Amino acid sequence: MFNVYSRPFDALGFELIMSGLLANWQAVLQRIRVAETAAQRRNGSCSLLAVSKTFPASAVAELFALGQRDFGENYVQEGLQKIEALAKHRNQLVWHFIGPLQSNKSRLVAECFDWVHSVDRLKLAERLSAQRPMQLPPLQVCLQVNISNEPTKAGVNPSEVLELAKAVAQLPRIKLRGLMAIPAPTDDPIRQRAPHSALRMLQEQLNSQGLELDTLSMGMSSDLEAAVAEGATWVRVGTALFGERTSHKGA
Ligand SMILES: *Cc1c(COP(=O)(O)O)cnc(C)c1O
Repeated sequence: MFNVYSRPFDALGFELIMSGLLANWQAVLQRIRVAETAAQRRNGSCSLLAVSKTFPASAVAELFALGQRDFGENYVQEGLQKIEALAKHRNQLVWHFIGPLQSNKSRLVAECFDWVHSVDRLKLAERLSAQRPMQLPPLQVCLQVNISNEPTKAGVNPSEVLELAKAVAQLPRIKLRGLMAIPAPTDDPIRQRAPHSALRMLQEQLNSQGLELDTLSMGMSSDLEAAVAEGATWVRVGTALFGERTSHKGA
């Protein structure tokens, strides 16, 4: 145990921030592990995507130093700044784009990210495939599904997923991995499971039609247990790791 009083204040502050992040990270990993066990799933079958939107590159660097490798960003410019800031670790980091994506910003995402979880239309997928640099592996893609059928929500309608998935799976520079959803929030743990269950059944339906999807990106800070119970392979967690977001962008 180090003696905190022998350290200058800024170093002490740094230790406290690090230990807070460490405690949060370990707590989230433990929640995932407990949920996997409760669902009789293999430990490690669900991975943690750390959603760092609105938090600085220094926060990503700290979590990276603890051992986290996958990070999710919602905004193109903000994400690119952090990828740049952590460029020396690029080979060890996996960057996931998880926000709404305008077609005119697809090139930067195709060139700089490893995954996109938020593909919801063929035109966007075609652009990402065409713009994916040849020297990089195919872009890993999930289709975002409007699983709660909310009129204002992003995502493809469940009834249109099969057609979109078949078309995206043909694109040469994309690897279609699975489905992603952001269900309407509810605090009731039982009701939390319904949309996750619906997304899993949709995946099974697509696989019975000849697709080979191995990924379900679902569950966030407040519903990750419900998502793991229904088969999530990525939970996307921001608040439980980094704390509440204050910037309006992250609302
Ligand atoms: C912000 C965000 C998250 C993380 O949400 P928290 O509730 O902070 O864990 C997950 N997925 C997407 C798509 C997001 O935009």
